[in-house]
Amino acid sequence: MTNEKTCQSCGDAQCSAHAKQPGERDEEFMDRQALQSRMCKIKHKVLVLSGKGGVGKSTVAVNLATALAMAGKSVGILDVDIHGPSVPKLLHLENARIEGREDTLFPVKMTVGKGVLSVMSIGFLLRDRDDAVIWRGPRKHGVIKQFLKDVEWGELDYLIVDSPPGTGDEPLAVAQLIERADGAVVVTTPQEISVQDVRRCVAFCRQVELKVIGVVENMSGFTCPKCGELVSIFGADGGRTMAKEMGVPYLGAIPIEPAIVVSGDSGMPIVQAKPDSATAQAFAQIVRCLATNGVDRTG
Ligand code: ADP
Repeated sequence: MTNEKTCQSCGDAQCSAHAKQPGERDEEFMDRQALQSRMCKIKHKVLVLSGKGGVGKSTVAVNLATALAMAGKSVGILDVDIHGPSVPKLLHLENARIEGREDTLFPVKMTVGKGVLSVMSIGFLLRDRDDAVIWRGPRKHGVIKQFLKDVEWGELDYLIVDSPPGTGDEPLAVAQLIERADGAVVVTTPQEISVQDVRRCVAFCRQVELKVIGVVENMSGFTCPKCGELVSIFGADGGRTMAKEMGVPYLGAIPIEPAIVVSGDSGMPIVQAKPDSATAQAFAQIVRCLATNGVDRTG
């Protein structure tokens, strides 16, 4: 059943799209209502953040989304990583053509196990990567806003958002525009499990009133390709200790796994390509932890 609710008929007094904000122009108010009315059809919105690029944020986002879809949920993955949109490649959708009409873009739909994964990436819209590099701050904010506003997800159990890395203007725009998100999953690696990096992310979340669902320690230890044994290269439990120090939940660790690189290149996430592997099980554990940290899986 589709959700027929509109901002005009909705009685949710908590929603900021209910009324115009001081100083807001009519056009801005209408844009905000358009975004909110799309977002309020989504039960759970989870932002995936990282202090910097290259730590596996997109890999984690794609595997979490795929694992949830495999469990029978209706899931969307939104790739707003404006400088390095890698979701199309990770899902083998580099040549996908998206449908659109007027102010509406429709995500690409994939059947994954028992569920459906709807995919939208800012990479589908960039003619080439240099487009984003030459945009100045306000232009980037405008592009992110329009992109979020125009995507028609329909009803979803989960939207997993692969945010731009860092704690600057771009992730800030995403966090402010997606109001009433369940919270953020912060991805980091043992090398940079420096208190500063995660502290910056946690401070960022507090600034935008976004709950920290927890920290994922990626590339933690190495799974021997011969015997499958997990070797702790950077020492065990660093992530858990760090999360405790920061007062945020620890969701689990993903090892350095050569199969992740292979599955990234082939466009099939490891949770789907090798569901019985220790790494897929580690992702399953993180999905379970989402539930215990406030994101209701019964959705
Ligand atoms: P980010 O989104 O943070 O920039 P990506 O998810 O694109 O990072 O990952 C960067 C690179 O690291 C990719 O080539 C990916 O395949 C690889 N990678 C990510 N996580 C792992 C892991 N646990 N083990 C091995 N390689 C990984």
